[in-house]
Amino acid sequence: MVKLTEWRGKEIFRKYGVSLPRGQVVRSPEEAERAVQAGGVPLPCVIKAQVLAGGRGKGGAVRFASTGAEAREAARAILGLDFQGEKVRELLVEEKLAITRELYVSMTLDRSQRQPVLMASGSGGVEIENVPDEQITRIPVHPFEGLSGFHKRRVIRAWGLSGPVARSADALLDRVWEVFQKEDAELVEINPLAVVGDAVVALDAKVIIEDDATFRHPQYAEVLDDRTPLEEIAREKEIAFVQLDGDIGVIANGAGITMATLDVLQQFGGRPGVFLDLGGTDDPAKVTEAFLLMARAHPKSVFLNIFGGVTRCDTVAKGLVAAMTQVPEGERFPLVARIRGNNEAEGIEILKAAGITARRELKESAQAAVAAAGYTVRDGAVP
Ligand code: GDP
Ligand code: MN
Repeated sequence: MVKLTEWRGKEIFRKYGVSLPRGQVVRSPEEAERAVQAGGVPLPCVIKAQVLAGGRGKGGAVRFASTGAEAREAARAILGLDFQGEKVRELLVEEKLAITRELYVSMTLDRSQRQPVLMASGSGGVEIENVPDEQITRIPVHPFEGLSGFHKRRVIRAWGLSGPVARSADALLDRVWEVFQKEDAELVEINPLAVVGDAVVALDAKVIIEDDATFRHPQYAEVLDDRTPLEEIAREKEIAFVQLDGDIGVIANGAGITMATLDVLQQFGGRPGVFLDLGGTDDPAKVTEAFLLMARAHPKSVFLNIFGGVTRCDTVAKGLVAAMTQVPEGERFPLVARIRGNNEAEGIEILKAAGITARRELKESAQAAVAAAGYTVRDGAVP
């Protein structure tokens, strides 16, 4: 899920011809003041924190200013704010438009209907979760057929628009669909879509790009800069590796078992630090790469939770031992293994022979990993 901040979303909108307020991205109070000086963004202006969380309007992260000095002060007040855990580093300074109505529109994927759905409401400017269901129009759109005239007419009627502004809305809806489809978005939301004179203008932009499509859109790579350096290497090598802030490394094979393992460690008093999902792979080269990455994260202990299904436990165990020997002497970590499934007895023997604590019981293994990392072990049942 690549979530784009408002200004990045609007940059895409601009490319597709969506009407937008004139604006500029700034990173300091002085820059905000300069942005509204001669020839720049017209006054009065709106100054908006560029964070991913919503509700900025209510949360004091959207302010208005009618002079350069006011713009500078508003920027000073917002920059550096901690907005729901995100530090504000960028602002969007935009002309303040005289709006007569605020509408809502979004295009998203409805997983239960297995197709895109167009959502519209005449009650814009508030979060859609807070809009009564009967005020929301939902229209499934077939991905191959796209948006049709009758879809758009239904939305425009729901919005209560007619005349020139209805024509502007009609064109806008086509563009929303185009952005959604061509940019491989999983969400394109405009809230509010404002009526300004005879036109509709996108005052806000929320765009989320589907992760699996990012290879088609290399321009989004720079947005993913919240990855740690190790996560970045992992991504290039196509290894599922995520850093958290505890001290116990987790190696498991599958997304479900990996998540459950994190919970179990937490349950017994430990804090997971890194997790590595081997998925279905037993490709020795890849397992070795994964181990080397794990070593570089310097976990205090590593809990290996493996289920041998199609790939049998003994095969997995051999791969793990081989990978472990590739880790440089000074970077080895204490390993505690829990292994279950086909040929588990053989798997446990292979690990033990290599000096790795290995068992089939989940609780005892997890507690051993928690203890090895120096946490106080809590007792309890396996959740
Ligand atoms: P959000 O609260 O994070 O979704 O931020 P928005 O971008 O939606 O802005 C919040 C509110 O600020 C909007 O619903 C509008 O009411 C108001 N707002 C933003 N830009 C303008 C503008 O150009 N003119 C006016 N009058 N209001 C604006
Ligand atoms: Mn909004």
